[in-house]
Amino acid sequence: MFENLGLEERLLKGVKAMGYTTPTPIQEKAIPVALEGKDIVGCAQTGTGKTAAFILPLLQRMGTQRGVKALVVTPTRELAGQIEDVARECTRFTGQKVTAVYGGVGYQPQKDKLRRGVDLLVATPGRLLDLQSRGDVDLSKVEVLVLDEADRMLDMGFWPDVKRIINLMPAKRQNLLFSATMSHQVLGVVGSTLNNPVRIDVAPSATPIEAIDQAVYPVGSTQKGDLLVRLLEERDLDRVLVFTRTKHRADRVCRTLSRKGINGVAIHSNRTQSQRQQALDGFKSGKYRVLVATDIVARGIDVDNISHVINFDLPNKAEDYVHRIGRTARAGNDGTALSFLASEEASSLREIEGLIGTTLRCEDVEGFDYDYRVVPSPDREATKVRKLVYNGGALSGKRKRGRKRPTRSMAGAR
Ligand code: AMP
Repeated sequence: MFENLGLEERLLKGVKAMGYTTPTPIQEKAIPVALEGKDIVGCAQTGTGKTAAFILPLLQRMGTQRGVKALVVTPTRELAGQIEDVARECTRFTGQKVTAVYGGVGYQPQKDKLRRGVDLLVATPGRLLDLQSRGDVDLSKVEVLVLDEADRMLDMGFWPDVKRIINLMPAKRQNLLFSATMSHQVLGVVGSTLNNPVRIDVAPSATPIEAIDQAVYPVGSTQKGDLLVRLLEERDLDRVLVFTRTKHRADRVCRTLSRKGINGVAIHSNRTQSQRQQALDGFKSGKYRVLVATDIVARGIDVDNISHVINFDLPNKAEDYVHRIGRTARAGNDGTALSFLASEEASSLREIEGLIGTTLRCEDVEGFDYDYRVVPSPDREATKVRKLVYNGGALSGKRKRGRKRPTRSMAGAR
């Protein structure tokens, strides 16, 4: 019950208007602690409801004086936009002003919005520093700082910028840090930035990974496009998110799909902000059946009802596999994650299986005219689980043996 978390009536009305009836585990745990003014380290990934978990308490706690009183720093424009949307809805009955600033779009509209007054600012690090250095934003009144997707910000090299931003704020403030993974680097940031934080993990029993049906499709690298088309033509794949290793490959996959009359669109960092937004909106509305993405922009994409994630290429980093497949099976739905496996990706597969502690089952597509491919041995075992300092709800630290599922047609190399 949201009513039991200590939230004011005007925020509860906003929550109700958003259609939320029951708090998610991270909301249940984080909101009362944040309302007490304590620092928090939240280990949770997108899809857990973490946005409302930090937005609602900061809206309640911030004072009424003019100026930016709460700042959310997040790594990508897409996330900034999504957080702004949630914050707008939460402030529907409070009158507080919310704005997001991020790169890739013009400065002037953002400057104008800032000049009109902002209570809660959502920002990506680079654009925020630019605006600050031009005198367009004042961070000296910030009472609550949220560092969202801290692990991603570190991965993307944003930490020096974030540190500069922190130095522009009063030392006495509340800090809320959220991260899907708790690497040593993240823990280092926690130690240097937060004040005696309360650690909140979403219950491992809620692991979304368990709700995802995962399979590997061995295929030669030159036949991946054909296999994707075949799957899309033959199977009931409704709303499909395809991951490629590079932007170039994302565009190429899209071209292959359009040649076959399949509605697809690519989203990656070479595309303009408005192209990215159009792609995302088109995918959300059902105009496009397939969204082809690279890891950086796809992280945190908030689209419900993704039925299938297809790893056209396996990710370079095993952790990205978990983030990718976590885009499906959201909000209690089931989901499917299929991974194409070329022989040169065998070591990536071993790493992924090591990380998730499961041996993934292999399948092939009946009737597909495979050239050469290498099928991993069906009785292989997951390698030793890598040391995990992670518990965002998606991974379990314990080693699990491969699930006993029927393994079809392990044809081997042909
Ligand atoms: P987040 O992890 O913040 O990106 O949220 C993931 C999705 O869950 C978003 O689409 C939210 O609108 C939705 N959501 C968050 N909290 C709740 C809730 N208590 N009940 C239902 N849906 C929620």
